[in-house]
Amino acid sequence: MVISSMDAKSRRQRYTRQWKCARRSLAERSIRERLKCNPKTPQQLQDPNNFTERNHHDRNIRSAFECGEIGVSGVSDETCSSGKESVEHRTSEENCNSGHEGGSYAVSEENCSSGPEDVEMPPASLTMFLQEWSMKHLIPHNAIDDLLRGLKHHGHPELPLTARTLLRTPRQIETVKMSGMECVHFNLRESLIEQLKHYPKEMTEQIGTLEISFNIDGLPIFKSSRVHLWPILCAIHLTPTRVFPVTLTLGPSKPTNLDFIEKAIGDIQELIENGLEGKQITIRCVVCDAPARAMVKRIKQYSGDYVCDKCTQKGRWISGRVTYPQVDNLILHTNETYRAEMARRQQIDDIPMSPFLRLPLDMIDQFPIDYMHQACLGVMKKLITEWIRGDRKVRMSAGQTQAVSQRLLSLKAAIPSCFPRKPRALEDMDRWKPTELRQFAVYTGKIVLKGILSDQLYDHFMGFSVALSLLLSPSLAVDYNSYTSELMN
Ligand SMILES: [Zn+2]
Repeated sequence: MVISSMDAKSRRQRYTRQWKCARRSLAERSIRERLKCNPKTPQQLQDPNNFTERNHHDRNIRSAFECGEIGVSGVSDETCSSGKESVEHRTSEENCNSGHEGGSYAVSEENCSSGPEDVEMPPASLTMFLQEWSMKHLIPHNAIDDLLRGLKHHGHPELPLTARTLLRTPRQIETVKMSGMECVHFNLRESLIEQLKHYPKEMTEQIGTLEISFNIDGLPIFKSSRVHLWPILCAIHLTPTRVFPVTLTLGPSKPTNLDFIEKAIGDIQELIENGLEGKQITIRCVVCDAPARAMVKRIKQYSGDYVCDKCTQKGRWISGRVTYPQVDNLILHTNETYRAEMARRQQIDDIPMSPFLRLPLDMIDQFPIDYMHQACLGVMKKLITEWIRGDRKVRMSAGQTQAVSQRLLSLKAAIPSCFPRKPRALEDMDRWKPTELRQFAVYTGKIVLKGILSDQLYDHFMGFSVALSLLLSPSLAVDYNSYTSELMN
């Protein structure tokens, strides 16, 4: 299978989602901590003197992280189901239980992940309401500033002047230089205890084993600069899944080594050994895209010869890209062979080991291939590109392309609201989101292509579509495993 290069735009959008998610948890956390360290009554919060003093400083102070917040807050729009795939491996539209076509990310995310939050106590003052509201909906700081100015003029002189004062944005964040980046680490045990408070007590008291997952990925936070954020995110596998940052790193490019993961690994080790408030902690998986996975597992980057995570076959260059044509009789990597190979390489080449080797993890099975990049943005996009722009042997005529688009558009009215997006014309394919590609691969493609695409190509697509549909269902994927691999071959 060809390892496709990732579409830069959708990558940035995914990063933005992840960053927003992390940012929200961080903001919530910072407010909670500040309230804890310096508890103020609602009256004190409303005291104009408190704020006048702070406003003066606010104008001058800008932390690097805050710049990041402002940088991404204007970017919006993505759907909850695709956004969470990278962390949660969501498998079907059904998991996303709300319709929010065209809604902003903040709204979508709320729809999908909120629950216990909604039944919290109403805020005690207007200031606190505004704090919670602006965090919940990720309101840009300049919009909050405008709102505060308006409210101040219309009968609320007690309110602060700026968003930073309102949100009590920390003026100084202690960062540590690591891996060529600025790092902030949050103790995983404390974060888990804090996050578990969002679930009903009956639920958390019942569970004996708490399953968590991790995601490591880089996200460019500005279009015009090379500054990258490399967060380590943790997901708690309870309903609803909660995602929060463990380590945040900011730097000019990617981390120069894996030191930035060390603290998180230490925390995980400690939790696995000692448990958390009587609960056992287990790791479900570590989700990374191909470049990040190569980095954290210390395997070669994705353009090298032996880069497949799962098997030992050598990549072959065919028309400018590495391909893996062999599909039968593969010698598969196992946790044991991977660990043995890494130990050998460390002895011979003195290459530092991946910190993940210290954890009781299956280094192959617990680093899943993410299907959003491989199947949706990879295979499905490649197939459509070939059909509309490829070689004459496989290309559809302009009329046929238009006919498929017409059919897609006519399906709009029939798409239930549980799908994050309605179908768009094939001409817009370059702007399709991963969830639209999935919708085409699993649901709409088989209807709109029938009778238009040549029989041979249609059968080929159906093999992929049926296999993907089976693999996306947790129960069918097990029952029809051998049929699925037959189809994929
Ligand atoms: Zn392979």
